[in-house]
Amino acid sequence: MISYDLHIHSALSPCAQDEMTPNNIINMSLIKELDVIAVTDHNTMLQCRTCAKCAQDRIKFIYGVEIESKEGVHLLGYFQDDSSLDFMQKWLDDHRSKIPHRADYFGNQLLMNEQDEVIDTVDELLIVSCDASIDEISAVIHSAHGLCVIAHALDRASSMITQLGFIPFEFDYDAIEVHSNEQIEMILSSHPWLKNPVFFISSDAHQLIDISEPEHFIDEKVWEELWRKRL
Ligand SMILES: [Zn+2]
Ligand SMILES: [Zn+2]
Repeated sequence: MISYDLHIHSALSPCAQDEMTPNNIINMSLIKELDVIAVTDHNTMLQCRTCAKCAQDRIKFIYGVEIESKEGVHLLGYFQDDSSLDFMQKWLDDHRSKIPHRADYFGNQLLMNEQDEVIDTVDELLIVSCDASIDEISAVIHSAHGLCVIAHALDRASSMITQLGFIPFEFDYDAIEVHSNEQIEMILSSHPWLKNPVFFISSDAHQLIDISEPEHFIDEKVWEELWRKRL
């Protein structure tokens, strides 16, 4: 079984603490003895390569992103390596709403190097929606051989079930993120059309202390099968 936390925000997300540096995220994940982590900033993947370098081969690093659709739904995209990263970053830059960032109001958007030094800031606000539907976002993630996961499906203002009322029958996704086993039961009982979906329970950490303990696991075979389907 693989322990994981697949929803962690770096200091590049304005809502995350400045302490969420690449090395702090990796080192805290190592202290927690997690097997796999993903950094999932809002609508950008610019911090992923540095985090992957800091991870080296000490922990499995997944390149991630949390994309907001035009319906206001948060979807997570996961990628095994950086081969699709430039393609995805350009797609995000082309589709993100263009709103100037105000650090004093929204929080810092800090891009860091492997020494955790701030090398740049992003001038456009990252916590905005993209001009793409949930189906278009799912399609672009899958075209880049990534996994599309419904973020915090049942709660928060930006969840699919809050925004749409349910997970659409025809929506093409790979897993559903929830925050508890009770939420899994609630989703299964209200969505009889879901066929044995994979559920993730991740932290959505915006500060170091919130990164998961190694208490959520996925079977290695299920994990491999998820990726194999999108090759
Ligand atoms: Zn979210
Ligand atoms: Zn998040």
